Amino acid sequence: HSAEIGSSLSHGSLSDKNVYDWSSEEEEPDGRARPIQVLLVKDDHTFELDEAALSRILLAEEVRDRDVVAISVAGAFRKGKSFLMDFMLRYMYNHASDTWLGNADEPLTGFSWRGGSERETTGIQIWSEVFLVDKPDGSKVAVLLMDTQGTFDSQSTLRDSATVFALSTMISSMQVYNISQNVQEDDLQHLQLFTEYGRLAMEETFLKPFQSMIFLVRDWSFPYEFSYGQEGGMKFLEKRLKISENQHEELQNVRKHIHSCFTNISCFLMPHPGLKVATNPNFDGRIKEIDGEFINNLKVLVPWLLSPRNIDVKEINGSKITCRGLLEYFKAYIKIYQGEELPHPKSMLQVEIPTVGSAFAFLQVCGGDRPFLAPSELQARHSVIREEALQVFRGVKKMGGEEFSRRYLQQLEGEIDEVFVQYIKHNDSKNIFHAARTPATLFVVIFV
Ligand code: GDP
Ligand code: MG
Repeated sequence: HSAEIGSSLSHGSLSDKNVYDWSSEEEEPDGRARPIQVLLVKDDHTFELDEAALSRILLAEEVRDRDVVAISVAGAFRKGKSFLMDFMLRYMYNHASDTWLGNADEPLTGFSWRGGSERETTGIQIWSEVFLVDKPDGSKVAVLLMDTQGTFDSQSTLRDSATVFALSTMISSMQVYNISQNVQEDDLQHLQLFTEYGRLAMEETFLKPFQSMIFLVRDWSFPYEFSYGQEGGMKFLEKRLKISENQHEELQNVRKHIHSCFTNISCFLMPHPGLKVATNPNFDGRIKEIDGEFINNLKVLVPWLLSPRNIDVKEINGSKITCRGLLEYFKAYIKIYQGEELPHPKSMLQVEIPTVGSAFAFLQVCGGDRPFLAPSELQARHSVIREEALQVFRGVKKMGGEEFSRRYLQQLEGEIDEVFVQYIKHNDSKNIFHAARTPATLFVVIFV
């Protein structure tokens, strides 16, 4: 139905400033605001950043030196992201007025209007118009809306999506994680994965690396357990993210990790929008065909996310970022993912390499037909090899955070010490004085 929504696109009076000059061929000549695919994951799993388009949006004269609020809605395809974002646009275009929702017959337009959402490309789309908003403290900020989508169904798409989600988490001040029906364990694992990917690529910092994470649960169907909205959401999330002793360690780790990454974590439980929205192919987004309960919560959700007092400026290492700065960070971050071989989601920690390396080093010192080494000499060589292996481990980019990594470091130390014990034995077997203990070789000893 997206195409039909598209045919009725009309921002008309809503958008009064058509200030952008769309020069590239595939762009609309009329300068109307629309979603722009700025980051694209191609079939060969490479990432393409449309720097020209991104620059046009972020370097527009009115916005480039303003502090930026970057709001991303992230999640899998076909889970109602665009639908929600269209309401967010409506709120922004109506300047947060009390009647922002508009009349009941108005079709919904915006992110979903173009076939684009049906191509299901993994990547990031940005709304071409950046909104200027006056905060209650007197500052004027630029608000950027991003749509981040991917799939998590195979190893390769998992990796692509994790990278895209990592990027959008790194460059946004508010990440809305749009999930369906419940917060499942794999939703948390995916979140852990893409925040890990983000953390790997960022400088070490004492601050939490990311700002706000909002779990947005769609089609919540247990309002009698946890009520719709933010309060019910917080109670629900608290329960879901609780760390308890009898939990499996992996579950505990996911939870600790999520807490360690974000300055703010919150949750909003949204009701089902009704069957017309979910199943009618001719539905065009008009409010009168959406369940009242959904609309009521939408009236709370959208201002809760976007009202001038609630939006947060993007900060990196504690400093506020402007649109111009955000562009630079975007370019720098994408280079990291393009250039460096990040660990594959499967190989969480690459410990094998240093262990194998140290065994090989021992082999050269005292293995095979090498002569017997004095135990003190072997001990000294062991210390050097051990330290080298640990350095390799410390230098390798790892996933799982400090505590997880420390445990693997201990395991590595244990493994190297074990290798050492084997080589002590091997070395000892060449010691003629040890060999002398067995009568069969006594003869040899005498004639040496
Ligand atoms: P996106 O791929 O995540 O951007 O999803 P869309 O916004 O394009 O929506 C996909 C389909 O789900 C459309 O048919 C929408 O009408 C429908 N939809 C939108 N919001 C919701 C929701 O909250 N719950 C359900 N069940 N369907 C929704
Ligand atoms: Mg979409």
